Amino acid sequence: MSAASSTAEALVHVAVPVPNLDLLTYAVPDGSPMPCVGARVIVPLGTRVVTGLVVEVNVAWDDASSKTPVERERSTQVKTIRQILDAGPFVPPDVVALAQWTAEYYAAGVGDAIPALLPPMARGGRADAHKTIRVAAITAAGIEALQSELTPAQRELLAVLAGVPTGIATPALAARGIAGSAISRLVKRGYISIRLEKTDRNPFANPEEGQTWVRPGSDPGLTPANLTNATDRPLTAEQTDALARLRHLLDTRAFHVALLHGVTGSGKTEIYIRLAAAARESGRRVLMLVPEIALTPVAAFLFRNAFGERVAIQHSGLSDGERHDQWQRIRRGEIDVVVGTRSAVFAPLDSVGLIVVDEEHDASYKQEESPRYNGRDVAIVRAQRAGALVVLGSATPSMETYHNAMSGKYQRVVLERRVLDRPLASVRVVDMREEYAAEGPETILSRALRDGIQNRLDRREQALVLLNRRGFATAVFCRQCAGTIDCPNCSVSLVVHGEGNARRARCHYCNFTSRVPPACPLCAGPYLEQAGFGTERVEAEVRKACPDARVARLDRDAIRRKGSLASLLARFRDGSIDVLVGTQMIAKGHDFPRVTLVGVISADVGLGLADFRASERTFQLLTQVAGRAGRGEQLGEAIIQTLYPDHYSIQLACRQDFPAFYEREMTFRKAMRYPPVLSLVNAVVRSRTFAGAMDDAAGIAETLRRSDANLRILGPAPAPLGKLRGEYRAQILIKGTNRKRIREALQTALAARSDLQRRVVVDVDPLSVL
Ligand code: ADP
Ligand code: ZN
Repeated sequence: MSAASSTAEALVHVAVPVPNLDLLTYAVPDGSPMPCVGARVIVPLGTRVVTGLVVEVNVAWDDASSKTPVERERSTQVKTIRQILDAGPFVPPDVVALAQWTAEYYAAGVGDAIPALLPPMARGGRADAHKTIRVAAITAAGIEALQSELTPAQRELLAVLAGVPTGIATPALAARGIAGSAISRLVKRGYISIRLEKTDRNPFANPEEGQTWVRPGSDPGLTPANLTNATDRPLTAEQTDALARLRHLLDTRAFHVALLHGVTGSGKTEIYIRLAAAARESGRRVLMLVPEIALTPVAAFLFRNAFGERVAIQHSGLSDGERHDQWQRIRRGEIDVVVGTRSAVFAPLDSVGLIVVDEEHDASYKQEESPRYNGRDVAIVRAQRAGALVVLGSATPSMETYHNAMSGKYQRVVLERRVLDRPLASVRVVDMREEYAAEGPETILSRALRDGIQNRLDRREQALVLLNRRGFATAVFCRQCAGTIDCPNCSVSLVVHGEGNARRARCHYCNFTSRVPPACPLCAGPYLEQAGFGTERVEAEVRKACPDARVARLDRDAIRRKGSLASLLARFRDGSIDVLVGTQMIAKGHDFPRVTLVGVISADVGLGLADFRASERTFQLLTQVAGRAGRGEQLGEAIIQTLYPDHYSIQLACRQDFPAFYEREMTFRKAMRYPPVLSLVNAVVRSRTFAGAMDDAAGIAETLRRSDANLRILGPAPAPLGKLRGEYRAQILIKGTNRKRIREALQTALAARSDLQRRVVVDVDPLSVL
């Protein structure tokens, strides 16, 4: 190994899966050919050896020395690649470039972007308390052995393990076709160590299990026969027009973005499938993104029926082995359609001609950890580079997307009617102030909603009841001193879950859990009272009002157990549940033809949040949930309970008048200068003390103000969630017309304070500023 540098050396830039690291420069070993972009390499890093990915080749010496200060220091002693694992690209170069763009745009280290890019089995396992598995990890001797004589199979096994210092579960290795005997042989030689580890049990660890809830035959809309014929079924006139316009865009074989703005139940899925078929006929491939893991089985099922085996699924709910397996199939070119959640935007799919982003407004497309990318926006960049068509589908487009459609940047294709001219649900607003006056202040279900549910039960129809707040009671307060029981780690009050002896107070942010004390911890007063209510209480109220109803609850608490989400949805679909109570999870994209009533409790829950998207979110949620009603043959009805019947989000959601909402909301965004009028970056400084967070944030804000007069800097201010998991949070909002300028100013401000870098979270195009 030569450590010394010379200008004659061939240099490459390598991304290593270590947070906050920039690209690192390594020398190609003497006599080795230049590796390809996208090839995996084993490189020394400090005292460790890690697997990295080649991002740039033939790096000029000048380039190498113009990196960060740390890098420049190192460049006098550029280390040499230990081993080049792939003769060709392991990750396609265009996907490498896309990930690099993502890392840069979202101001994350390039190393951070690697996990989003590499097949998931090259990452560590997760831990949980249920099941124990064997994890194989490479030893120091094993790394040395990579330099020596090995069989190709042994080399592959060690190379894979070298990429994951934390080890890989043996089932995941087995899924790769690596024999147990091969592992034990290398264990005997001391190249691999085995340890026992508790693993995460994922509801969709087995993809077959994810499918079981789409029981063929249980639902007229989802029988295989029906689905096989799906593409033969005549389109409505609107669908025909929409498809023709989109096909025209597809046939140009050039980059276009189209907003498919279709009301709920207008048959957008049918259009996606036919468009995908057209793309495939023209020799191109398709990426189909959905916001939620729960929506992938249905989408995959529909596409499998149309395209057979050449459909793959990619989402984080698959087991590492399964996901890796599908990733390899995509990479080998055996797949024409990839269905998945946001990370699937990095699927190693060749000749992409069409990318569909269904429910494009959905917040789940945004990753809330570094790199904080929005899968929809990365999809657009990918399509631009591939010369592909992107279809953004939604009944309630995001303000950004609609803004672009209005300005002519995106094509707007509209579906104004539901298929077969089924009417939209009729919406009725119940003013809860009147209800309290008539029924008492404790009322949770209005008379109209109680009657409506009973009515559906009598007619053997189904109802959905939405409350976007979990738990039984949302606060506990003392009648003597008015104190509340708050989380010791976060600036929120604890939420009560369960009733009677099962009662527990829990923090929804850090999961801190305690018993509900019998007396006030502040003044010892015995009069503790519960206030506010969540889904658990609503479920109890529905049971009380309709004792014969079969009621179930769907929220994050209810689906903790493996497979429970799939089985809940299956039971609702096949009619063994009459009323499903839940959070926004029940509002998303599902197609349940027998639901004829949707009730919304406290439609205004989200309006109180100190977030500039509060109205947009509320409008979307209400329109989407109302859109779950009346999708079958029977008429649908929505009953919306609120204390603010006059708020424009609620009013316009009731009328399902998106254009009016957009106009009204734009007035606010323009006045307050929020996206889509300007670009926004949120920087949150975390510290152990309040003063520490505020002082550091003030320093950064000051530097920013001095660096660029065109930027608008708000803050520092305590973040709306002022304390989270024991850390205080101060916030700076940066607005400008040019994201690049904002990013550069921020990077410069942070470069001056390297101690701060780890404590500042930068969110480019944030979906929420809480
Ligand atoms: P969206 O995604 O726009 O809310 P879906 O694609 O889920 O709507 O379609 C709503 C329902 O209408 C589904 O049950 C679907 O099978 C059905 N459907 C779609 N297109 C047609 C059509 N041309 N004829 C009959 N039924 C259709
Ligand atoms: Zn907490």
